[in-house]
Amino acid sequence: MKLTKPLIAITGASSGIGKATAELFAAKGYPVLLMARRVEILDSLNIEHKITAKVDVTDIKQIRQAILKAEKIYGPVDLLVNNAGIMPMEKYVDQSLKDKYATLDVNIKGVVNGMDCVLKTMNARQHGTIINLSSTASRWTSIDHALYNGSKFAVNAITEQARRENSENNVRFILIEPGIVDTNLLDTTVNKEVLDAYLVNKNNLKGGLKSQDVANVILYAYELPQHINVKELLITHTQQK
Ligand code: NDP
Repeated sequence: MKLTKPLIAITGASSGIGKATAELFAAKGYPVLLMARRVEILDSLNIEHKITAKVDVTDIKQIRQAILKAEKIYGPVDLLVNNAGIMPMEKYVDQSLKDKYATLDVNIKGVVNGMDCVLKTMNARQHGTIINLSSTASRWTSIDHALYNGSKFAVNAITEQARRENSENNVRFILIEPGIVDTNLLDTTVNKEVLDAYLVNKNNLKGGLKSQDVANVILYAYELPQHINVKELLITHTQQK
């Protein structure tokens, strides 16, 4: 089958929302570039038109190399989903500097790195979409979330101003802001007391949204005609307060 759809690049495609997004776009006939550190998981996904790359998003060279490799085969990236993220929850005073810096590095620097790898080409092509995974945590702060809140507030600000500066080039910037989603995101929180407090909310929602729910929203926003830029989609489980 000849592929007629453009290349979609997704960071953090080895788990949760990124993996569900990869599977959905692939099922719709898009070639996909899948990036994550656990490349063996990417390789094991049952997707026909995929390029996989071992990528740590904090290193821009790794993203750039992966995109170059995929673009040689499938043409320019038309959608980048900056999805990779971590959420080591902890009280600010107790959180290690290592976890604080890691949150900033992955959740902010990783997004900036991704944007820098595709934006100039999208501007030159006068076409393209960048979707950044933010969160309800970009709208209000909450207990044990200081660095995570800070990282997602930053993603919103960076995305919005980049959108304003590049919209005339027909490039869209979309923020997806989910509430609680049932993924492995909590694996990076090690403090059991903190985790248990969070799990009360999550369990009350039977886990919250599913990764596939968010993937559907990403596909919806992307497949709208190029002249429609849904700037932000704040989505929660109906029963989430
Ligand atoms: P998961 O933990 O299930 O997936 C996170 C993904 O990020 C993994 O594929 C992981 O891959 C990747 N990742 C982490 N660090 C790096 C890194 N340094 N370089 C490359 N990839 C990395 O979590 P979610 O699917 O929930 O998270 C996806 C996004 O959604 C995040 O940005 C998160 O903040 C956001 N979000 C999640 C919500 C939730 O409740 N789950 C709610 C709101 C937003 P690997 O380890 O293989 O590198």
